[in-house]
Amino acid sequence: MNNIKTKKKRSGSNPSFNKSNRGGSGRRQPRKKAVSTLDPNLLIKKAVKVEEEEYVPTRTFDDMPLDVNLKANIFDKGFRFPTKIQDETLEALLEGTDLIGVANTGTGKTGAFLIPIINQMLSNRKSSKALIVVPTRELALQVEEEFKSLSHRLGLYAACFIGGTNLGRDMMRLRKRNHIIIGTPGRLMDLVGRDALRMDDINTLVLDEFDRMLDMGFVNDIKRMVKLMSRRNHTMLFSATVDDTQKALIDTLLNNPVEVKVSSGKTTNENIDQDIIRVAEGEDKFQMLLDLVSGEDFQKVIVFAETKRMADKIAKKLNQSGVKSDQIHGNKSQNYRQNALNRFKNGQVKILVATDVAARGIDVTDVTHVINYQLPLNFDSYVHRIGRTGRGGKVGKAYTFVDEADNKQ
Ligand code: ADP
Ligand code: MG
Repeated sequence: MNNIKTKKKRSGSNPSFNKSNRGGSGRRQPRKKAVSTLDPNLLIKKAVKVEEEEYVPTRTFDDMPLDVNLKANIFDKGFRFPTKIQDETLEALLEGTDLIGVANTGTGKTGAFLIPIINQMLSNRKSSKALIVVPTRELALQVEEEFKSLSHRLGLYAACFIGGTNLGRDMMRLRKRNHIIIGTPGRLMDLVGRDALRMDDINTLVLDEFDRMLDMGFVNDIKRMVKLMSRRNHTMLFSATVDDTQKALIDTLLNNPVEVKVSSGKTTNENIDQDIIRVAEGEDKFQMLLDLVSGEDFQKVIVFAETKRMADKIAKKLNQSGVKSDQIHGNKSQNYRQNALNRFKNGQVKILVATDVAARGIDVTDVTHVINYQLPLNFDSYVHRIGRTGRGGKVGKAYTFVDEADNKQ
């Protein structure tokens, strides 16, 4: 059953887990739990420093065939050399070729599509309009932020439409001129349904984090959206992973695409130290978490919980125990989530408790640890979660609690 090779087990790598922390309430959760298909043994791995990640660019942004004002904005952001995906996709995108970009998170995909789009718009402001579809609200806001800095003083305008915000305001916003529309599929289709957003004047489409969107069940929204884009002539699709199940759909979306792969397309998270923590029946799991995060190297930690209720509970208990924490999940307003994320980014809180959906695409550098409070439902979810740490060439750490009661082997 275990067909993926794992490094040898390192159980009890943290001494505090060898002792049995009895005294928990032992209460079982009343709701029916979705059963994880994950074999915990796959989650034990020693980090390998990934040296070959270092990409040596052949040129600077200055050498690229781009508008001088756009270049100035790029430099103002502190970017000097393109990342690999930015370097290798630029010419194809400037020519209007469809593209599949396969690259892990943190490889600079946002710039890879925004830079050529902005450049093309500068020479054709009137008739170009782009739609950027992303799976989550946080990601949409990040793309908008990146667009704003890249298009500073260029006279291009973006609008961002995400769930959890005021629909009326979105509809007002759509009456103004927008060059770029950024949004999540649900809200975008909602606005289309209200005749507030038109799809027939969009010529450029970006599907970012395509694999996530499919995972989150947006496939029909995407299909409906694409059908309405009668003027679409340039499509870019970015994904961390591309597998055979997506192939047929991708073929219908793209026209003779060039494919640029920066990674193998399989996220391996080689630079992340991964281990499991077995929780015996009756052990106080929360106390174990508390012991774990009291470690000095636990500076910036994301704790994943399966449900909103659980995320809420963990964050509250952590705060009560004197560990500064915040939470992001679907029951929190967009405003709250954004503030929580900012507090976490700037170090005001040490722990961010999140559910899967809320945390997708979050780009916070320096996350030292990812902790799965429960076993994620599947390997894909696991891979995306732990990818929040070990970014930018750093070694990250991931721990997964495994409830022995649920995993009798
Ligand atoms: P991805 O979409 O692939 O996950 P992002 O576009 O979010 O990656 O970029 C990850 C981080 O790298 C961001 O903080 C971004 O500002 C930064 N970044 C992107 N391109 C460059 C570059 N050419 N030079 C330096 N930093 C960059
Ligand atoms: Mg991205």
